[in-house]
Amino acid sequence: MACTMTINGKQVAFEKGKTILEVARDNELYIPSLCYHRKTGPASKCRACVVEVEGMRGLQTSCSVEATDGMVVNSDTPDAAAAQKMVINLLLANGHHNCLSCEANGDCELQDAAYYLGIEVPAFLVETEAPLTDESSEFIVIDHKKCIKCGRCIEADNCTVVNEVLDFGFRGHDTKVICDDNLPMGDSSCVQCGECSQICPVGAIIDKKAIGKGRAWELKRVDTVCTYCGVGCQLTLHINEKKNEIVKITGVEGAPTNDGMLCVKGRYGYEFVNSPERLTMPLIRNQQGILEEADWDAALALVARKFQEIKTQHGADAIAGLCSAKVTNEENYAFQKFMRREIGTNNVDHCARL
Ligand code: SF4
Ligand code: SF4
Ligand code: SF4
Repeated sequence: MACTMTINGKQVAFEKGKTILEVARDNELYIPSLCYHRKTGPASKCRACVVEVEGMRGLQTSCSVEATDGMVVNSDTPDAAAAQKMVINLLLANGHHNCLSCEANGDCELQDAAYYLGIEVPAFLVETEAPLTDESSEFIVIDHKKCIKCGRCIEADNCTVVNEVLDFGFRGHDTKVICDDNLPMGDSSCVQCGECSQICPVGAIIDKKAIGKGRAWELKRVDTVCTYCGVGCQLTLHINEKKNEIVKITGVEGAPTNDGMLCVKGRYGYEFVNSPERLTMPLIRNQQGILEEADWDAALALVARKFQEIKTQHGADAIAGLCSAKVTNEENYAFQKFMRREIGTNNVDHCARL
């Protein structure tokens, strides 16, 4: 059902069933928020998204209150703005937030909220605590002192990718994100899918291989499809154009195949692209059994001759062909046609069943 409401004096239309925050975002009206993510849903934990709603007592968390027809909402009244500022100031005070050296600088939702609210210098000076990082895993670094305890990584790990590794451990001031029974990430059951890194709103969970390789605004984003398997996850390459180098990979949020999620290969297995060991020419073994570079005509002629020899001596069924999920449907079709018509065998299969 189409409804209308007013946010900060602007009348907007929306479909019933959305929260105030969702309606604001759909209409490009910014309300600070940290613990809400489209995939993990409302958490009402950080309380940075508080607003005034006419007819309701006190401030409301816009991520969890459903929008209703005729509702009048204000996110920038003195009371709402003061409460939002207090939340952001407390988060900045609790931890080790040094944007100058943080990997998330320029791509941080806490920074965005501070900028929007005009917080130049955090209101509370708390003695800086030493960074507490977990660098034990292959591809991910957890910087606990930048964690704002929003819980998005935990929700995503347990309910989106369902790997059930993360939880909050300990209590009060000591509360922190833990892996399994407080194991280092590298010793835990984490499969390094990186969903927690993608969904973390700040620089608390970051991709190890991207550290120091470029700021968010320096990297060109190119959307493409993962080459590893037949699922066809959509991903974004973050490229340092000056070095012609992939710095990191993220999943495309909202993509029908993967909705931002990736596996460890798709997210972190990209160094082959610039590897000097990549084969660019066919290799043929010489008389001594050593591989030597050859031109394509010579290589194809050799393969054709070998096929002919095997077929003549042992019959076509002595040959089998395995194709790949990394190629297109059309290429797979052409391959089975080649095996059946040119080679003369039905011995044809696909890597997905190996
Ligand atoms: S997490 Fe965000 S606010 Fe904290 S240091 Fe990094 S960029 Fe700054
Ligand atoms: S990398 Fe994946 S499996 Fe590991 S903690 Fe993060 S979301 Fe869970
Ligand atoms: S690590 Fe990131 S996503 Fe997880 S609770 Fe901390 S700030 Fe939130």
